[in-house]
Amino acid sequence: MIRQLLVNGILKPGKFNANRNIHSDKKLLGQWELKKSAKISEFNMTASILQHEGGSEFLHVERDDPNATFSVGFRTVPQDSSGLPHILEHTVLCGSERFPCRDPFFNMLSRSLATFMNALTAPDATMYPFSSLNKQDCRNLQSVYLDAVFQPKLDPKDFQQEGWRLEHEDPNDPSTPIILKGVVYNEMKGVFSDNQNLYGEELLNNLLPVAYGVCSGGLPKEIPTLRHEDLVQFHRRHYTPRNAKFFLYGKLPLEELLAGVEPYLKEKGSDIPLVRAEPRWSAPRRKHVVCRCVYLIYIHAYMGFIWSKQVRRYQVNGYKIWHAGIRICLRGTSASMRFYN
Ligand SMILES: [Zn+2]
Repeated sequence: MIRQLLVNGILKPGKFNANRNIHSDKKLLGQWELKKSAKISEFNMTASILQHEGGSEFLHVERDDPNATFSVGFRTVPQDSSGLPHILEHTVLCGSERFPCRDPFFNMLSRSLATFMNALTAPDATMYPFSSLNKQDCRNLQSVYLDAVFQPKLDPKDFQQEGWRLEHEDPNDPSTPIILKGVVYNEMKGVFSDNQNLYGEELLNNLLPVAYGVCSGGLPKEIPTLRHEDLVQFHRRHYTPRNAKFFLYGKLPLEELLAGVEPYLKEKGSDIPLVRAEPRWSAPRRKHVVCRCVYLIYIHAYMGFIWSKQVRRYQVNGYKIWHAGIRICLRGTSASMRFYN
Protein backbone atom coordinates (compact mmCIF):
# COMPACT_ATOMS: atom_id res chain seq x y z
CA MET A 1 0.00 0.00 0.00
CA ILE A 2 2.86 2.35 0.80
CA ARG A 3 4.08 1.79 -2.74
CA GLN A 4 0.66 2.65 -4.10
CA LEU A 5 0.65 5.82 -2.02
CA LEU A 6 4.05 6.89 -3.26
CA VAL A 7 3.33 6.14 -6.89
CA ASN A 8 -0.15 7.67 -6.95
CA GLY A 9 0.50 10.56 -4.57
CA ILE A 10 -1.43 13.56 -5.77
CA LEU A 11 1.23 15.82 -4.30
CA LYS A 12 4.40 16.63 -6.16
CA PRO A 13 7.45 16.65 -3.87
CA GLY A 14 9.11 20.03 -3.61
CA LYS A 15 11.61 22.00 -1.56
CA PHE A 16 10.64 24.17 1.32
CA ASN A 17 12.19 27.59 1.18
CA ALA A 18 11.87 29.29 4.53
CA ASN A 19 12.89 32.68 3.11
CA ARG A 20 10.03 32.83 0.60
CA ASN A 21 6.81 34.50 1.68
CA ILE A 22 4.21 32.22 0.18
CA HIS A 23 1.30 34.34 1.31
CA SER A 24 2.32 37.17 -0.99
CA ASP A 25 2.65 34.82 -3.98
CA LYS A 26 -0.72 34.76 -5.74
CA LYS A 27 0.30 32.00 -8.16
CA LEU A 28 1.17 29.58 -5.39
CA LEU A 29 -2.06 30.21 -3.53
CA GLY A 30 -4.13 29.42 -6.64
CA GLN A 31 -7.85 29.42 -5.80
CA TRP A 32 -7.12 30.43 -2.24
CA GLU A 33 -7.36 33.99 -1.01
CA LEU A 34 -5.40 35.20 1.99
CA LYS A 35 -7.93 36.71 4.41
CA LYS A 36 -5.75 37.47 7.37
CA SER A 37 -2.18 36.94 8.55
CA ALA A 38 -0.49 37.76 11.82
CA LYS A 39 2.88 37.19 13.43
CA ILE A 40 2.68 35.74 16.90
CA SER A 41 6.09 36.61 18.29
CA GLU A 42 5.57 34.87 21.64
CA PHE A 43 5.54 31.54 19.83
CA ASN A 44 7.77 32.47 16.87
CA MET A 45 5.07 31.70 14.36
CA THR A 46 2.87 33.24 11.71
CA ALA A 47 -0.81 32.38 11.57
CA SER A 48 -2.77 32.90 8.34
CA ILE A 49 -6.36 32.26 7.33
CA LEU A 50 -7.01 31.41 3.70
CA GLN A 51 -10.39 31.08 2.01
CA HIS A 52 -11.06 28.93 -1.04
CA GLU A 53 -13.50 30.17 -3.65
CA GLY A 54 -15.51 27.00 -2.94
CA GLY A 55 -16.00 28.08 0.69
CA SER A 56 -13.36 26.04 2.55
CA GLU A 57 -11.13 27.69 5.11
CA PHE A 58 -7.47 26.90 5.76
CA LEU A 59 -5.65 27.92 8.91
CA HIS A 60 -1.91 27.85 8.34
CA VAL A 61 0.38 28.14 11.34
CA GLU A 62 3.92 28.43 10.03
CA ARG A 63 6.60 27.65 12.59
CA ASP A 64 10.07 26.15 12.54
CA ASP A 65 8.95 22.88 14.08
CA PRO A 66 9.76 19.57 12.35
CA ASN A 67 6.69 17.91 13.86
CA ALA A 68 4.06 18.95 11.31
CA THR A 69 0.32 18.64 11.95
CA PHE A 70 -2.45 18.54 9.37
CA SER A 71 -6.16 18.25 10.00
CA VAL A 72 -9.39 18.33 8.05
CA GLY A 73 -12.63 18.96 9.91
CA PHE A 74 -16.33 19.56 9.28
CA ARG A 75 -19.15 21.13 11.24
CA THR A 76 -21.44 18.20 12.09
CA VAL A 77 -24.35 19.29 14.26
CA PRO A 78 -26.34 16.20 15.31
CA GLN A 79 -30.15 16.23 15.33
CA ASP A 80 -30.54 13.27 17.70
CA SER A 81 -28.52 10.99 19.98
CA SER A 82 -28.17 8.12 17.52
CA GLY A 83 -24.42 8.83 17.32
CA LEU A 84 -24.54 9.61 13.59
CA PRO A 85 -21.46 11.93 13.45
CA HIS A 86 -19.47 9.50 15.60
CA ILE A 87 -20.38 6.39 13.57
CA LEU A 88 -19.68 8.30 10.37
CA GLU A 89 -16.26 9.30 11.73
CA HIS A 90 -15.47 5.61 12.22
CA THR A 91 -16.97 4.41 8.93
CA VAL A 92 -15.21 6.87 6.58
CA LEU A 93 -11.90 5.41 7.75
CA CYS A 94 -12.88 1.91 6.54
CA GLY A 95 -11.90 2.39 2.88
CA SER A 96 -12.20 4.98 0.13
CA GLU A 97 -12.22 5.21 -3.67
CA ARG A 98 -8.46 5.55 -4.08
CA PHE A 99 -7.65 3.29 -1.16
CA PRO A 100 -10.31 0.58 -1.28
CA CYS A 101 -8.39 -1.85 0.93
CA ARG A 102 -9.74 -2.95 4.28
CA ASP A 103 -9.23 -0.20 6.88
CA PRO A 104 -6.54 2.00 5.22
CA PHE A 105 -6.44 4.15 8.35
CA PHE A 106 -5.48 1.24 10.61
CA ASN A 107 -3.07 -0.06 7.98
CA MET A 108 -1.26 3.27 8.11
CA LEU A 109 -0.92 3.04 11.90
CA SER A 110 1.73 0.34 11.51
CA ARG A 111 3.23 1.64 8.23
CA SER A 112 3.52 5.34 8.96
CA LEU A 113 6.08 7.35 10.96
CA ALA A 114 3.26 9.45 12.39
CA THR A 115 3.65 10.88 15.86
CA PHE A 116 -0.15 11.20 16.10
CA MET A 117 -3.05 9.79 14.12
CA ASN A 118 -6.67 9.94 15.16
CA ALA A 119 -10.19 11.14 14.43
CA LEU A 120 -12.39 12.97 16.91
CA THR A 121 -16.09 13.73 17.20
CA ALA A 122 -16.98 16.82 19.23
CA PRO A 123 -20.54 18.00 20.11
CA ASP A 124 -20.77 20.02 16.87
CA ALA A 125 -17.75 19.05 14.73
CA THR A 126 -15.71 16.12 13.47
CA MET A 127 -11.99 16.37 12.81
CA TYR A 128 -9.26 14.13 11.40
CA PRO A 129 -5.77 15.21 12.57
CA PHE A 130 -2.33 13.66 12.18
CA SER A 131 1.27 14.67 12.93
CA SER A 132 4.56 13.46 11.56
CA LEU A 133 8.24 14.43 11.49
CA ASN A 134 8.65 13.10 7.97
CA LYS A 135 7.57 15.15 4.93
CA GLN A 136 6.79 12.20 2.67
CA ASP A 137 4.85 10.57 5.47
CA CYS A 138 2.76 13.75 5.76
CA ARG A 139 2.01 13.66 2.03
CA ASN A 140 0.99 10.00 2.24
CA LEU A 141 -1.19 10.55 5.27
CA GLN A 142 -2.80 13.61 3.73
CA SER A 143 -3.77 11.53 0.68
CA VAL A 144 -5.29 8.80 2.84
CA TYR A 145 -7.14 11.22 5.12
CA LEU A 146 -8.54 13.42 2.34
CA ASP A 147 -9.73 10.51 0.25
CA ALA A 148 -11.28 8.94 3.33
CA VAL A 149 -13.36 12.00 4.21
CA PHE A 150 -14.33 13.14 0.70
CA GLN A 151 -14.68 9.80 -1.11
CA PRO A 152 -15.42 7.09 1.45
CA LYS A 153 -16.97 3.77 0.44
CA LEU A 154 -19.46 3.82 3.32
CA ASP A 155 -20.15 0.15 2.79
CA PRO A 156 -23.24 -1.16 4.64
CA LYS A 157 -21.07 -3.92 6.14
CA ASP A 158 -18.67 -1.31 7.55
CA PHE A 159 -21.68 0.51 9.01
CA GLN A 160 -22.75 -2.72 10.73
CA GLN A 161 -19.25 -3.29 12.02
CA GLU A 162 -18.67 0.26 13.28
CA GLY A 163 -22.25 1.23 14.21
CA TRP A 164 -24.53 -1.57 15.32
CA ARG A 165 -25.77 -5.02 14.28
CA LEU A 166 -27.64 -8.00 15.67
CA GLU A 167 -25.54 -11.11 15.95
CA HIS A 168 -25.36 -14.33 17.93
CA GLU A 169 -23.32 -13.92 21.09
CA ASP A 170 -20.96 -16.53 19.66
CA PRO A 171 -21.11 -16.01 15.87
CA ASN A 172 -20.12 -19.65 15.37
CA ASP A 173 -22.87 -21.01 17.59
CA PRO A 174 -26.46 -20.28 16.45
CA SER A 175 -27.84 -21.60 19.75
CA THR A 176 -26.40 -18.58 21.64
CA PRO A 177 -28.70 -15.57 22.14
CA ILE A 178 -28.86 -12.76 19.56
CA ILE A 179 -27.35 -9.57 20.97
CA LEU A 180 -26.47 -6.03 19.85
CA LYS A 181 -22.87 -5.51 18.77
CA GLY A 182 -20.86 -2.73 17.07
CA VAL A 183 -17.66 -0.79 17.68
CA VAL A 184 -19.31 2.55 18.52
CA TYR A 185 -22.21 0.85 20.34
CA ASN A 186 -19.73 -0.91 22.64
CA GLU A 187 -17.51 2.16 22.94
CA MET A 188 -20.43 4.29 24.12
CA LYS A 189 -21.58 1.62 26.59
CA GLY A 190 -18.08 1.89 28.04
CA VAL A 191 -18.15 5.70 28.04
CA PHE A 192 -21.43 5.88 29.95
CA SER A 193 -20.46 3.24 32.47
CA ASP A 194 -18.20 5.97 33.88
CA ASN A 195 -20.09 8.43 36.07
CA GLN A 196 -17.89 11.37 35.17
CA ASN A 197 -18.64 10.92 31.48
CA LEU A 198 -22.34 10.55 32.19
CA TYR A 199 -22.25 13.70 34.29
CA GLY A 200 -20.33 15.67 31.66
CA GLU A 201 -22.75 14.71 28.89
CA GLU A 202 -25.87 15.35 30.97
CA LEU A 203 -24.56 18.70 32.11
CA LEU A 204 -23.88 19.82 28.55
CA ASN A 205 -27.23 18.50 27.28
CA ASN A 206 -29.20 20.18 30.08
CA LEU A 207 -27.29 23.41 30.51
CA LEU A 208 -27.55 24.25 26.79
CA PRO A 209 -30.50 22.09 25.68
CA VAL A 210 -31.22 23.92 22.44
CA ALA A 211 -27.66 24.21 21.19
CA TYR A 212 -26.22 20.99 22.64
CA GLY A 213 -29.23 18.99 23.81
CA VAL A 214 -28.27 15.68 22.17
CA CYS A 215 -25.25 13.38 22.41
CA SER A 216 -23.02 13.46 19.31
CA GLY A 217 -21.23 10.28 20.40
CA GLY A 218 -24.50 8.34 20.62
CA LEU A 219 -26.56 6.99 23.50
CA PRO A 220 -26.41 3.16 23.48
CA LYS A 221 -30.22 2.86 23.62
CA GLU A 222 -30.62 5.22 20.60
CA ILE A 223 -27.76 3.98 18.42
CA PRO A 224 -29.85 1.07 17.03
CA THR A 225 -32.32 3.57 15.53
CA LEU A 226 -29.69 4.74 13.03
CA ARG A 227 -29.91 3.44 9.44
CA HIS A 228 -27.21 3.17 6.82
CA GLU A 229 -29.13 5.54 4.49
CA ASP A 230 -29.05 8.23 7.22
CA LEU A 231 -25.30 7.90 7.35
CA VAL A 232 -24.87 8.27 3.58
CA GLN A 233 -27.17 11.31 3.45
CA PHE A 234 -25.47 13.00 6.39
CA HIS A 235 -22.08 12.50 4.75
CA ARG A 236 -23.31 13.88 1.42
CA ARG A 237 -24.63 16.98 3.10
CA HIS A 238 -21.93 17.71 5.67
CA TYR A 239 -18.60 16.48 4.26
CA THR A 240 -18.46 19.14 1.55
CA PRO A 241 -15.82 21.72 0.58
CA ARG A 242 -18.07 24.53 1.76
CA ASN A 243 -18.17 22.99 5.23
CA ALA A 244 -14.51 21.93 5.39
CA LYS A 245 -11.85 23.50 7.60
CA PHE A 246 -8.21 22.60 7.05
CA PHE A 247 -5.32 23.16 9.42
CA LEU A 248 -1.57 22.97 8.90
CA TYR A 249 1.08 23.55 11.53
CA GLY A 250 4.86 23.39 11.11
CA LYS A 251 7.26 24.16 8.29
CA LEU A 252 5.86 21.96 5.52
CA PRO A 253 5.49 23.74 2.16
CA LEU A 254 1.99 25.20 2.16
CA GLU A 255 1.64 25.07 -1.62
CA GLU A 256 2.09 21.29 -1.61
CA LEU A 257 -0.58 20.80 1.01
CA LEU A 258 -2.92 23.16 -0.86
CA ALA A 259 -2.30 21.20 -4.06
CA GLY A 260 -3.21 18.01 -2.25
CA VAL A 261 -6.50 19.48 -1.07
CA GLU A 262 -7.47 21.06 -4.42
CA PRO A 263 -8.82 17.94 -6.27
CA TYR A 264 -11.43 17.47 -3.54
CA LEU A 265 -12.83 20.99 -3.69
CA LYS A 266 -14.71 20.84 -6.99
CA GLU A 267 -18.31 20.61 -5.77
CA LYS A 268 -19.15 23.21 -3.18
CA GLY A 269 -22.11 21.56 -1.45
CA SER A 270 -25.13 23.20 0.14
CA ASP A 271 -25.60 25.05 3.41
CA ILE A 272 -25.70 22.92 6.51
CA PRO A 273 -27.46 23.40 9.87
CA LEU A 274 -25.67 25.66 12.34
CA VAL A 275 -25.56 25.32 16.10
CA ARG A 276 -28.80 26.89 17.26
CA ALA A 277 -28.63 29.93 19.54
CA GLU A 278 -29.43 29.18 23.16
CA PRO A 279 -32.20 31.36 24.59
CA ARG A 280 -31.89 32.85 28.04
CA TRP A 281 -33.18 30.83 30.92
CA SER A 282 -36.20 32.41 32.59
CA ALA A 283 -35.94 30.39 35.80
CA PRO A 284 -33.55 28.09 37.62
CA ARG A 285 -33.78 24.47 36.48
CA ARG A 286 -33.26 21.19 38.26
CA LYS A 287 -32.36 17.90 36.70
CA HIS A 288 -32.15 14.51 38.31
CA VAL A 289 -29.69 12.10 36.71
CA VAL A 290 -29.49 8.47 37.69
CA CYS A 291 -25.98 7.11 37.96
CA ARG A 292 -24.08 4.53 39.92
CA CYS A 293 -22.76 6.87 42.56
CA VAL A 294 -25.33 8.73 44.67
CA TYR A 295 -23.30 11.76 45.72
CA LEU A 296 -22.97 12.99 42.12
CA ILE A 297 -26.73 13.47 41.94
CA TYR A 298 -26.56 16.03 44.74
CA ILE A 299 -23.54 17.75 43.21
CA HIS A 300 -25.39 17.94 39.93
CA ALA A 301 -28.58 19.39 41.40
CA TYR A 302 -26.57 21.95 43.35
CA MET A 303 -24.34 22.95 40.45
CA GLY A 304 -27.34 23.18 38.13
CA PHE A 305 -28.90 25.68 40.50
CA ILE A 306 -25.71 27.75 40.79
CA TRP A 307 -25.13 27.79 37.05
CA SER A 308 -28.66 28.76 36.24
CA LYS A 309 -27.94 31.96 38.16
CA GLN A 310 -24.63 32.43 36.41
CA VAL A 311 -26.12 31.92 32.97
CA ARG A 312 -28.78 34.50 33.69
CA ARG A 313 -26.17 36.90 34.98
CA TYR A 314 -23.74 36.63 32.08
CA GLN A 315 -26.29 35.39 29.58
CA VAL A 316 -24.04 35.20 26.55
CA ASN A 317 -21.31 32.77 27.14
CA GLY A 318 -23.08 29.87 28.73
CA TYR A 319 -20.71 27.48 27.05
CA LYS A 320 -17.67 28.99 28.73
CA ILE A 321 -19.42 28.89 32.06
CA TRP A 322 -20.25 25.25 31.47
CA HIS A 323 -16.73 24.45 30.50
CA ALA A 324 -15.11 26.27 33.39
CA GLY A 325 -17.70 24.96 35.79
CA ILE A 326 -17.34 21.35 34.94
CA ARG A 327 -13.58 21.62 35.08
CA ILE A 328 -13.80 23.02 38.56
CA CYS A 329 -16.26 20.39 39.59
CA LEU A 330 -14.38 17.46 38.12
CA ARG A 331 -10.92 18.93 38.73
CA GLY A 332 -9.82 18.96 35.14
CA THR A 333 -10.50 15.32 34.34
CA SER A 334 -11.19 14.07 30.83
CA ALA A 335 -14.90 14.65 31.34
CA SER A 336 -14.38 18.40 31.02
CA MET A 337 -14.77 18.20 27.23
CA ARG A 338 -16.69 15.64 25.25
CA PHE A 339 -14.63 14.15 22.43
CA TYR A 340 -15.29 10.69 21.07
CA ASN A 341 -12.45 8.92 19.26
ZN1 LIG B 1 -15.32 6.13 18.57
